[in-house]
Amino acid sequence: MSSAKEDSQSSMKSASTVAALAIAAGSPLAAAGAAPDTALPPGFSVIGAHQIAVRCDEELEQRRKMMANMERHSGAGTILGEFNALTLRTGGFDDPLAVLQNAAPEKETRAAAQACLEKLVPFATEVFQSTRLYARVLALRTNDEQDQSYRRLLLENFEDTGASLPEDKRAQAKAIQDELSTLALQFRQNLNNDATTVAVRAQDVEGTPPSWRDARARDASGNYLVSLDYPSYVTFLETAQNADARQRVWMAFQNRGGQPNLDLLDRALVLRSQLAQIYGYADYASFSLRRKMAGSPQAVADFLQSVKSGVDEVEARELEELRQEKAAIAGVAAQDVRLERWDISFLEHRLKRNRYQVDQEALRAYFPTDASVQFVLRLAERLYGIRFVPREVAVWHPEVRYYEVLEQNAKGEAGDRIGGIYLDLFPREGKFTHAAAFGVRSGSTLARQRPIKALLCNLDRKGLTQRELETLLHEFGHALHGVLSRTRYADQSGTNVRLDFVEAPSQMFEEWGRREAPLHLLGQICPQCPVLSAQQIEQMAEARRFGMGLQYARQWLLASYDLALHTGPPKPALATWEQLEGASRLGHVAGTMMPASFGHIMGGYESGYYGYMWSQVLALDMLSAFDGNLLDAGVGHRYRRIILESGGSRPPEELVEQFLGRKPNAQAFYEEISGRR
Ligand SMILES: [Zn+2]
Repeated sequence: MSSAKEDSQSSMKSASTVAALAIAAGSPLAAAGAAPDTALPPGFSVIGAHQIAVRCDEELEQRRKMMANMERHSGAGTILGEFNALTLRTGGFDDPLAVLQNAAPEKETRAAAQACLEKLVPFATEVFQSTRLYARVLALRTNDEQDQSYRRLLLENFEDTGASLPEDKRAQAKAIQDELSTLALQFRQNLNNDATTVAVRAQDVEGTPPSWRDARARDASGNYLVSLDYPSYVTFLETAQNADARQRVWMAFQNRGGQPNLDLLDRALVLRSQLAQIYGYADYASFSLRRKMAGSPQAVADFLQSVKSGVDEVEARELEELRQEKAAIAGVAAQDVRLERWDISFLEHRLKRNRYQVDQEALRAYFPTDASVQFVLRLAERLYGIRFVPREVAVWHPEVRYYEVLEQNAKGEAGDRIGGIYLDLFPREGKFTHAAAFGVRSGSTLARQRPIKALLCNLDRKGLTQRELETLLHEFGHALHGVLSRTRYADQSGTNVRLDFVEAPSQMFEEWGRREAPLHLLGQICPQCPVLSAQQIEQMAEARRFGMGLQYARQWLLASYDLALHTGPPKPALATWEQLEGASRLGHVAGTMMPASFGHIMGGYESGYYGYMWSQVLALDMLSAFDGNLLDAGVGHRYRRIILESGGSRPPEELVEQFLGRKPNAQAFYEEISGRR
């Protein structure tokens, strides 16, 4: 996997999980259509560890009161509106708290946020185990499509949480779900707090860019301290000439999370299997996949099989080229060199630089960080007819910026409010180490509440590589999905879609960082920046084609691993990985434990990792609607209205078909993974 692209958060709240009951303060009990949202910019203020603990207890009490009120009624009544109000309350509190857990500067605040989230987690299960509330939703009769769709979602949540189970099994399911949520929080916190650095000697950094060296801390003996956040790790792996040093850094990266996280994962696998059995399913994959587009483990296995046959030869060819490259450097015959996993990034980087004159590090000069962020905002403004206006609001760290998102009126001026977005772009100690879009507030037209998202990234301050620009676009795609959503109910807003569709809008948006016309906008934003020529952009495209086999073979491996873990009886996580990775062309390196940092399968993507590739099928297909003109605002507006605004209120296959005017197909995807697109 191209690691810089890895993200894990964007859709923690799949529409089909109990987590759909997230957090929100304010307007409790406003069953249908609360007060207008006058609170933008939002009242998001950083609260200290002590305040979090106090607020947490009050919050839980208020929620329970709200739920008791809902249970007091019988018959459907205004049940959907009541549920919406409850979701807004819970999401409005839990979502900002999750941001604090991942990004608050003080360790105490992060820990307090986590403790509070752990305390609040069981509430979602309580709600969706309530037979009284289940009965009220069941009693609802409606011909309205949005209401029907939300009713269906709630019923799925009730069924998946145990309301339809006999009492003893319901209690078991609750205990399991509560423990699973806690395990997931602990897993992520272990990774966030892992401050491992690897000391390498001054001669070991040969090959790395001066800007990278300048940004590193040194120890008393003058060694460079390589931390494992992306700007530090990826650049080192790609550019450091000393293979031994690369090996040490690579090993440390593979072992993040360590044995404690492996233990958490193993425990989770046992619990998931038990949960599935309570519901009468053979395994967790069968239980989980019935709520996804794919529908069944067999459908995923078939998909993965066709991916495998699409990339197999391409991967073999690319690895052979890298082996030749390694042999040429060493001045020996190709059959005498062995490719190691810590060679791949380095050799690929070198080959792209030499063959296509594309040096990702050198591209930082073309994509200054600030201009790149403005570029992404400008693109969205053009495509979707919106405006971003910076506002001073309370933030959790001085570097965080906030933009209000406004409708662009006929004169091109800022008009009605749509929502807002926080940007927290740079690495900090203790901060979430990937890139992801977090929810802060869900949108609901019923409650007239506008959505707010937060981007948590780890960008390099000295400019971006093209890949990092793609990552920024990707996460921004998630954020826009949330902010431009206009659904009646918060549980269906934005990224609350089927999990194997959620990556499609974000993956599609990456393309805007690869094509000439959009990249041209960068020159308007930053007149003094060097401009990429058409030839350079074409070379970048060619360089990108190389490595598709490696990238998708890796994605295939991760998705197959995820499916293997959740199919059949529970298996030990590490041994299963050793076996599967061991069967790959580069093999398994003894002593490494990648699953300990595989946050996806402890963060909502369990038996859903294939969804990245499944979404990519739809992303590339939807891209074809632009017919090569990525700045076509007409198509952009249509995309906004049909795909983004609908969120999870309609089935994704229906939305895509309406947008394309035909059934979706996988042709563009198979061209992509074989490097022909
Ligand atoms: Zn994503």
